[in-house]
Amino acid sequence: ASSPVTVTVTGAAGQIGYALLFRIASGQLLGPDTPVRLRLLEIPQAVKAAEGTAMELDDCAFTTLDSVEIYDDATAAFDGVNVALLVGARPRTAGMERGDLLSANGGIFKPQGAAINAGAADDVRVLVVGNPANTNAFIAASHAPDVPRERFTAMTRLDHNRAVSQLATKTGAKVGDIAKLTIWGNHSATQYPDLSHATVGGRPALEVVGDDTWVRDTFIPTVAKRGAAIIEARGASSAASAANAAIDHVHTWVHGTPAGDWTSAGIVSDGSYGVPEGLISSFPVTSVDGRWQIVPDLSVDEFSRSRIDASVAELVEERDAVQALGLL
Ligand code: NDP
Repeated sequence: ASSPVTVTVTGAAGQIGYALLFRIASGQLLGPDTPVRLRLLEIPQAVKAAEGTAMELDDCAFTTLDSVEIYDDATAAFDGVNVALLVGARPRTAGMERGDLLSANGGIFKPQGAAINAGAADDVRVLVVGNPANTNAFIAASHAPDVPRERFTAMTRLDHNRAVSQLATKTGAKVGDIAKLTIWGNHSATQYPDLSHATVGGRPALEVVGDDTWVRDTFIPTVAKRGAAIIEARGASSAASAANAAIDHVHTWVHGTPAGDWTSAGIVSDGSYGVPEGLISSFPVTSVDGRWQIVPDLSVDEFSRSRIDASVAELVEERDAVQALGLL
């Protein structure tokens, strides 16, 4: 077996954390031959709950779990980290203004970015799950000037997986028959799930669906509002599917995308597709030799253009707001 890989999870005592940690510890993140040194970061009030989860992790006797340690200090938790999963964030509560939300999250992601900058391993990979994920990743990256910016990513894989599932159900295909679907923009209600290059069993998805109205009036809003539908049905926000998507994101990043397909991830823009350079936006991406690459040269029709522009405009607004708040 290889030497242990250090994986730090923030918000470890939360719902997503509970669904995530056992899968990481059992080898589903990095593979069955890679031992994991797990580090759980929590705020002081949640350390006791994290200790309970750590006891359960011990009780699983996972052969891939090297150790579990609990922290309430970011600098210690990220020292030597190879994979950082930033799940803990300040949720939006009733009556909260956007500026308050961004400030509260700046207070979390600024020090975490600085801690990653100070102590992370050279190969560190960061995935931000906590919302507003793209902008939280942007804040963290801007406080980690010594870490290549492309190592900071935001999760849109859950949106991607939701879109794959909706398209499979609509067409009666298996999820494995769906390829080349894209989530563009922000992980928010403005995201654009794009079927224009998607295929179902090798055929163009739009042709198989044969119904533009379904795409615009059912598919896109169903994917974008799926989180709210789950809260409504379950009485709690999605957790296991969010954890699953985090596993998928890192697994793909490390192990690569299958030939002939791509996935979606929030990564730093190089200016492709008119997305301002430096923003963390979702794109169609492949992972090659452990690095994300934006799929080049896709045609963008008028409808897609306006949907991408709308979501990117929201990212620009969020960036400008955090800049004005002095969080960068
Ligand atoms: P969850 O584990 O359910 O969610 C954590 C974050 O993931 C939230 O920001 C949530 O955003 C986000 N998220 C992103 N995508 C999804 C999705 N598809 N479905 C659901 N959530 C999604 O939250 P809990 O409140 O259960 O737990 C959070 C934990 O984080 C707490 O234990 C808290 O103590 C901890 N925390 C730790 C910090 C630290 O380590 N420094 C800092 C802040 C909190 P949204 O709210 O928009 O759903």
